[in-house]
Amino acid sequence: MEEQKSRILIVDDEKVNLAILVELLKDKYHTLVAKSGQQALKRAFTAPHPDLILLDVMMPEMDGYQVCRELKNNPATQDIPVVFITAKDTETDEEQGLKVGAIDYITKPFSCPIIRARVHNHLELKRRGDLLKMLSDKDPLTNIANRRCFDNFLRKKWSIVQRAEQSLALLMIDIDYFKDFNDFYGHLEGDQCLKQVAQLMVNIPIRDTDLVARFGGEEFAVVMPLSDEAGAEQLAQKLMTALQQANIAHRHSQVSEQLTFSIGLAVMRPTLDDTIECLIERADKALYQAKHQGRNQYVISS
Ligand SMILES: [Mg+2]
Repeated sequence: MEEQKSRILIVDDEKVNLAILVELLKDKYHTLVAKSGQQALKRAFTAPHPDLILLDVMMPEMDGYQVCRELKNNPATQDIPVVFITAKDTETDEEQGLKVGAIDYITKPFSCPIIRARVHNHLELKRRGDLLKMLSDKDPLTNIANRRCFDNFLRKKWSIVQRAEQSLALLMIDIDYFKDFNDFYGHLEGDQCLKQVAQLMVNIPIRDTDLVARFGGEEFAVVMPLSDEAGAEQLAQKLMTALQQANIAHRHSQVSEQLTFSIGLAVMRPTLDDTIECLIERADKALYQAKHQGRNQYVISS
């Protein structure tokens, strides 16, 4: 597959400047342009987000510093490197540019080869940063969110719902008789099975605010911020149906001819005294009960 060209957003209120920079970069990169601060923000907040932003400082209405501050305040754009390209060439100007979060500050008139070289270097750093972030949040086997990502996500969402006095649901999912699956089919087949189950779970249309993660071993978890019991129960039913339809053979399961899982579901509207451990414990207990009652079912924590 051909590597995708990096996207560079060029922001300047003067057409001539935009044209020069586009001409300079368009052979190697996918260039996007914006003629005002507002346009720049609108463009940057829209996915696919740019990989790098070249930003003018002096623009009417909203100047470059303000644009940069807003980009850095938004989680969707805060990691996009911003490079100021400006005629404002005093030490104070440059200091302010770097203080609002820019990675670099280039003064006009600029040298074309140096712009190209700096753009290349910043994009390379961005690419490495993205890769590192992706690797640290993903489970290498199943390619879905890992335990670390789950912990961080849950912690963040927990404090949000706690402050907002809203509820949050957690589903703990465990494949039934997975040890017997491994013993009979072998660990490679076991890995395939985990991959298949993970894929099936992330393909179920859930709200994009939810997170599906591998919790560990043959256990998976779904975090549903701002969800009530009905929403979580609906998802549990969908998961059970999807696995049933996938029809993965498991000849050594004691509950079915095919692979099944058990689900423990807990919903909490946490007060400031409640802890995340308490939520996990409730979902775990419900899961234990589902196992105890014969597996291949979900149980809602009372
Ligand atoms: Mg200008």
